Amino acid sequence: MKTKMKSSPQPPRVHVPGAFRSGANVPFSGIYSLSHSHPLIHSTRLLQGHIFPSCPKCHDVITFTLMNQVIVESASSRFRLLMAR
Ligand SMILES: [Zn+2]
Repeated sequence: MKTKMKSSPQPPRVHVPGAFRSGANVPFSGIYSLSHSHPLIHSTRLLQGHIFPSCPKCHDVITFTLMNQVIVESASSRFRLLMAR
C-alpha cells in the first residue's frame, strides 16, 4: 500500500527571522541592533508587544535585527531609544 504523501511545500509566510522595521510589532523581547541611514545607537532593548519606533531624528524607518532574545523581562525595564550623540 502506498501512503498518501501530500507534499505540498508551502513556505510559511514569515518575515526573515530577526529583521524588522519601524511600525511593526516587537515579536520577542530582546536586544536589537539598529540599521539606519545615519548613525544611531548600535543596539537597544525592546519589549514584546511594543512597536518598533522610527528614528527620533528624521522619523524615517529603522531596520531592527534581533541579536539576543531576552527571556526574563521586567516591566520596569522600558524601551529607551537613545541617540548616538
Ligand atoms: Zn534618522
